[in-house]
Amino acid sequence: DRMITGELQEEDTSIELSLRPVSLNQYIGQDKVKENLSIFIQAAKMRNEPLDHVLLYGPPGLGKTTLAAIIANEMGVNFRSTSGPAIERAGDLAAILSSLEPGDVLFIDEVHRLPRTVEEVLYSAMEDFFLDIVIGTGPSARSVKIDLPPFTLVGATTRAGLLTAPLRDRFGVLSRLEFYEVKDLCAIVERTAEIFHTTITKEGAIEVARRSRGTPRIANRLLKRIRDISQVKGEEEISLETTDQALDMLQVDDAGLDHIDHKLLKGIIDGFQGGPVGLDTIAATIGEEPQTIEDVYEPYLLQIGFIQRTPRGRIITAKAYQHFGITKHEE
Ligand code: ADP
Repeated sequence: DRMITGELQEEDTSIELSLRPVSLNQYIGQDKVKENLSIFIQAAKMRNEPLDHVLLYGPPGLGKTTLAAIIANEMGVNFRSTSGPAIERAGDLAAILSSLEPGDVLFIDEVHRLPRTVEEVLYSAMEDFFLDIVIGTGPSARSVKIDLPPFTLVGATTRAGLLTAPLRDRFGVLSRLEFYEVKDLCAIVERTAEIFHTTITKEGAIEVARRSRGTPRIANRLLKRIRDISQVKGEEEISLETTDQALDMLQVDDAGLDHIDHKLLKGIIDGFQGGPVGLDTIAATIGEEPQTIEDVYEPYLLQIGFIQRTPRGRIITAKAYQHFGITKHEE
């Protein structure tokens, strides 16, 4: 398994429940998003209405699920969670929606992967809180209208552009989560250390933060491994030296990149003189899905300025060449 992907890995599930902040106050960073949500939540509570539907988008591991649960908490309602691919038929959606209590939050992860037929039924549910579904087939088929309790849909996706326009338009609040700044990730690392009943030096925390690709899930995962190594060494407090050693052992380089990033960047440098090269060609060369490259690997490389997108394809920047200690040969 990849150590530094923001995607959920099996080893995360055991620790994540204890690490989830439960209120907006505990949720570190993402200040603009928090400020917005806080106002909408207060207004909805004053009007005694459910919160408008919310779309959260951004790379995996940045805290979309966490934020959705916090929204329910702050509204004082139940939190129900499912995912786009898990809702296979309109009937599945009907069952979930009609079991909600008024005002509840329904969280749909990977909302862009809802089957088309389900998505179409969702429109009237979101807009006017009723379902229009067809029961039976052939001549005996009939359409029934079911009233629903008012609810808040919180959808999550890696990119807002993956949603169809009619679905996107039905969200009143669209919030984009950004990669975390080092200072915020550092605070998250320190908070996690506390929950793990351990302490980490400031320099150590900064190092973890710097090498976690702006992603809380990765920072927490790395810290868990570093803590183990520090404990075995008998340290009282996790040192910078141990942090460094552990990250090197885990093959997370100084910029927070791993072998897959290296394969991607080196693939373009060696195979295509640094580009420009199209996404599909890159995908074929390194044997990954184009969408995985776009949603999971590339966003951080774009953010730190190692890759650039141009109309003619991806280009590896001078900064990335420098990182590898290679000089670029212009033809
Ligand atoms: P996503 O749904 O975007 O993939 P999650 O909400 O599952 O991400 O977040 C992954 C983990 O990162 C959570 O378990 C939580 O411990 C941690 N986390 C995310 N955002 C924050 C934050 N703002 N403050 C503290 N911890 C966070």
